[in-house]
Amino acid sequence: MTEPLNPASAGTGPDTEHQELLQLLYAAPAGLVQIDDEGHILLASAAAAQMLLPLSAGRELADLFALLAPAMPDLALRARSGHPGELLIDGEPLALRVGPEGRQRPLVLSLTLRRLAAHRLAAVLSDITAQVERERRLRQSEAWLNAALTGIHDHAAVGLDAEGRIAHWSESAARMTGFARETVLGRPATIFHPGGATTPERLLDRLHEARADGWSMDEGWLLRADGQRYWGSTMIVPISGVGDGDTPAGFSLVLRDISDRRDAHEQRRRASETDHLTGLANRRVFFEAGRREIERFRRAPRPLALLVLDADHFKRINDQHGHAAGDEVLRQLAGVMLRSLRQVDVPARIGGEEFAVLLPSTGLEGARLVAERLRRAMAADTVTRADGTVIRYTVSIGLALMQAGIAGLEELLERADRALYAAKAAGRNRMVVDGE
Ligand code: GH3
Ligand code: MG
Ligand code: MG
Repeated sequence: MTEPLNPASAGTGPDTEHQELLQLLYAAPAGLVQIDDEGHILLASAAAAQMLLPLSAGRELADLFALLAPAMPDLALRARSGHPGELLIDGEPLALRVGPEGRQRPLVLSLTLRRLAAHRLAAVLSDITAQVERERRLRQSEAWLNAALTGIHDHAAVGLDAEGRIAHWSESAARMTGFARETVLGRPATIFHPGGATTPERLLDRLHEARADGWSMDEGWLLRADGQRYWGSTMIVPISGVGDGDTPAGFSLVLRDISDRRDAHEQRRRASETDHLTGLANRRVFFEAGRREIERFRRAPRPLALLVLDADHFKRINDQHGHAAGDEVLRQLAGVMLRSLRQVDVPARIGGEEFAVLLPSTGLEGARLVAERLRRAMAADTVTRADGTVIRYTVSIGLALMQAGIAGLEELLERADRALYAAKAAGRNRMVVDGE
């Protein structure tokens, strides 16, 4: 421990004080690790060792980059930059799986990385597994309270059977949705959502979540019989009764028209979940959504595709037209994605000029079509600058499909990345499917 944590005070007299401070820090219950540029662990606090040991599978704690690579493959790259004192990674969540094959449990660590000196970095790790789960539940109950207490125009209750098909219809439901009893009985509850806003699998997931958590709450566009959309919330609650054991007899679905709350909801969502430049989901939201989809896949396998896009020769665009123009290209590229995808898809900006899209309930052929559509739309797109200069851009795309042998989101992402790399190597402006 020769480097002061705060480089601003480096060289101010004998640093016994810093030494003592560091002793204290390393004894504290924070997961503190000092590493060199290659990720070699120079020093780790007891708490850090405790978090990292399960990841090392019994081996010595030697290489932080290798230990965390399954959750952040580009960590080594990101750690290579920065001037002393610079914050390189600010509390980003890393989802890992620990434990023996078959009995693995999810672990979510938050990582902060700061450059201390030329060849030295400090990492702070905290175990936020429980917090992430709590937050997910909290968001759900908060949404429930909000929906129950404020801004409701109208609401309707619908009875669903154990498979999510409409079993009971009410006057209120008919009034609010415009559907007639005889046209809805026996049909799946997905009919209340516009095309692309949900999938049959998503409905089953929500029934499962309602059973596990007591309710499932969601907010988004809903559909009336005449095709008109409205902003609403849907709450699904299991009805216990004649069902055997854990299987509920059915569910109650409460539809609410909350058009007034849409703007507020969107604003809140935008602030914390979107990337500022492009308006797409940010990296954190992407990983959260990805992990959720993988969990759902594990419980009930269904098609799930992942695309990774990287802008081609982007350095050249920046060099030729300036960074601001580059930013504009990224914004427009994101616009193409938003326009071409369904509401259930999750497009995100996961790096500077790198994007990812989760495509739930989408198999190989469907994903191939989506990827090709995106690639072509981008290659045909033009960005016109104020001075009339026209910029063209292309992207390379890697496509990977979730399947039983894939350990988790990280591996799926690795496969898509490998395919992306192959697309780059093959000349760019093309799509490559993992394994083909
Ligand atoms: P290729 O991916 O085709 O191999 O070439 P590239 O030139 O895109 O290569 P690379 O991925 O190494 O470079 C990405 C460049 O994107 C580097 C960086 O300056 C630029 N970039 C990253 N984030 C942003 C951003 O937010 N705005 C702008 N304008 N440029 C960015
Ligand atoms: Mg790149
Ligand atoms: Mg690039």
